[in-house]
Amino acid sequence: MKKGAQTDATASARSAPIRYLKGVGPQTAEKLARLGIQQVWDLLFHLPLRYQDRTRIVPIGALVAGEEALVQGEVQASDLRFGRRRMLLARISDGTGSLTLRFFHFSARQQAALKPGIWLRCYGEVRHGQVTLELTHPEYHEIEPNEPLPADARLTPIYPTTEGVRQATIRALTDQALSRLLASTASTTDGEEHLQELLPDELLAELGLPPLAQAIHYVHRPPAAASQRDLASGFHPAQQRLAFEELLAQQLSMQQLRQKNRAQRAPSLAVKGVLRQQLLAQLPFQLTGAQQRVIDEVTHDMQQPSPMQRLVQGDVGCGKTVVAALAVLQAVEAGYQAVVMAPTELLAEQHRQNFAQWLLPLSIEMAWLSGRSKGKVRSAALAQIRSGEAQLVVGTHALFQEEVVFDRLGFVVVDEQHRFGVHQRLALREKGRQQHCFPHQLIMTATPIPRTLAMTAYADLDLSLIDELPPGRKPIETVVLPDGRRDEVVQRVRQACRSGCQAYWVCTLIEESETLQCQAAEESVAQLAEALPDLRVALVHGRLKAQEKAAVMAAFKAGEIDLLVATTVIEVGVDVPSASLMVIENAERLGLAQLHQLRGRVGRGSEKSHCVLLYHAPLSAQGKARLAAMRETSDGFEIARRDLALRGPGEILGTRQTGELQFRIADIARDQAMLPDVNRTARLLMERYPQRVAPIIRRWLGDAARYGEV
Ligand code: ADP
Ligand code: MG
Repeated sequence: MKKGAQTDATASARSAPIRYLKGVGPQTAEKLARLGIQQVWDLLFHLPLRYQDRTRIVPIGALVAGEEALVQGEVQASDLRFGRRRMLLARISDGTGSLTLRFFHFSARQQAALKPGIWLRCYGEVRHGQVTLELTHPEYHEIEPNEPLPADARLTPIYPTTEGVRQATIRALTDQALSRLLASTASTTDGEEHLQELLPDELLAELGLPPLAQAIHYVHRPPAAASQRDLASGFHPAQQRLAFEELLAQQLSMQQLRQKNRAQRAPSLAVKGVLRQQLLAQLPFQLTGAQQRVIDEVTHDMQQPSPMQRLVQGDVGCGKTVVAALAVLQAVEAGYQAVVMAPTELLAEQHRQNFAQWLLPLSIEMAWLSGRSKGKVRSAALAQIRSGEAQLVVGTHALFQEEVVFDRLGFVVVDEQHRFGVHQRLALREKGRQQHCFPHQLIMTATPIPRTLAMTAYADLDLSLIDELPPGRKPIETVVLPDGRRDEVVQRVRQACRSGCQAYWVCTLIEESETLQCQAAEESVAQLAEALPDLRVALVHGRLKAQEKAAVMAAFKAGEIDLLVATTVIEVGVDVPSASLMVIENAERLGLAQLHQLRGRVGRGSEKSHCVLLYHAPLSAQGKARLAAMRETSDGFEIARRDLALRGPGEILGTRQTGELQFRIADIARDQAMLPDVNRTARLLMERYPQRVAPIIRRWLGDAARYGEV
């Protein structure tokens, strides 16, 4: 490590604005800003999408169709052709074979210049032609016969760009930025101090990663011998070096958030355990070992004087709700209010019922608040919450509203949290703030998140895992059928329901529009009711009034409905153990996590359950892979792993959170193997090189570190 680095690193690590480079006027600067390039370092982190190999000349006889190549040869003939379109054809040869150049657009001057006997060097994609291989509209220029290539040739980078910014422009600018980088690494005092090496030498050596400046240089201007395959995969050490530091920056910023949180105060909630004993005695089941372990972790956290920030992960149906209820009792018993928030009305309603059933016998006062609570009902709820009379409040994100004021909020449960982002999570916590005291928070995921992703996206949280399902659950048998066999499936539903089963029929639609979804469900329910006159068929969708929804769900739960036609509103949390058959129409439209969630509505009782995934052909490759995954496994963790590989992290975490996990270079799915090292390095830096933490975060996340100040 250079001596000056540490002091420089603590200085404000700003890069020069992009206009500092030659050739960047206001207009170009504006266009570059569209690519996220505002400062010189942004340009250095703007990596090529791919590379062209113009470092070697491929003999024409060795060309392969489909590949791009640099060739040269003597023009043998050139011809105008008048077919459907006018075109110019030129034939070149290098002694190993001949190749046709085909132009649809050309000038008279171009045409005149392509005289037999001159030599051309061309670059383009090789295609099959009628007689020989061809290049259509290649780049070309005239050369001396058999002119050799320049000696120090490098691979040619192709950058992501935007309208009005040419590749040549970006290349010229990166050339400038790279020479500034070289100059600054040669001296310890001036220049781009922000690009100084911030990772300890011994660490880089151990991880087999090159220093930053070298890595940047390599990815922008790889030598001729570089492996295109490694570069294309993103696994070249130079790329991994950059991805590593970017992931490290994200990890450090999350860890800072965590540290900040630890330094804050929360009410320490003592456990007497009387209420808990009462609830446990009333449950028709025993907690699983995993549930017990997680409750112990939660209990311990809530006794601490700093706010718990804990994420409970577990597969669909593992019994997260009762864990939350037991934690609520700890808060209530200690004299604090608790709040349980769910992302949908239907799920919140279900929690309301569960909690009412469990907690009202213990004489606990509950309030309910959703977006649909209006008028007197709403003001009564608000008054109860404000006065502290409501010991538990259940609701939707209506609980974020400004008028919602708690008396003594000590504990917040956020269910199915992947639909809420970090910011919302923190906003709710802020709500419970009293002077300098924050409530404890328990976050429950709907479906498992692969460990690597959780380590990154939720690095500010402690993790608890419920890795065990309640005993007696039978695996769900899943079949995948084309929708041409819908009638058969309808008859199968009929038989099942006639023999005492209850079933869901889920309608999906591509459009996000809730109205259209509901219409589709209304049509389906009419059809199904007609096809199945001897069954009791009902409909639930997002457009129904809360009371109507609740009434339908209650009737279904009570066994008064055989077949419940639904939109994906039933996706999360709905719990009717007697339902044992689910049909999902157009299953190919849904993501894996969503399918798994939906399917998790069955298989909750003692009956063997079935799930039929109907699809509309033709299936995309991804669609096929998803449905195969559903058929092959019902393990949520396995499904999550496949989902990560298929779709990447943004989709898994839900749209609201994608912005928080957008990396310039790293790719969590691709780079997950390095995450343990990233975590270890983050701890090492915080302990041994604390002054480097802020510059690394700033370098990658900008001044307003995305997680820092919420
Ligand atoms: P999820 O983790 O998906 O939110 P729930 O909390 O809805 O799961 O629980 C699913 C079902 O399992 C509920 O009917 C619940 O009452 C039941 N349950 C929870 N814990 C146990 C247990 N230890 N033994 C048996 N059933 C349980
Ligand atoms: Mg749940």
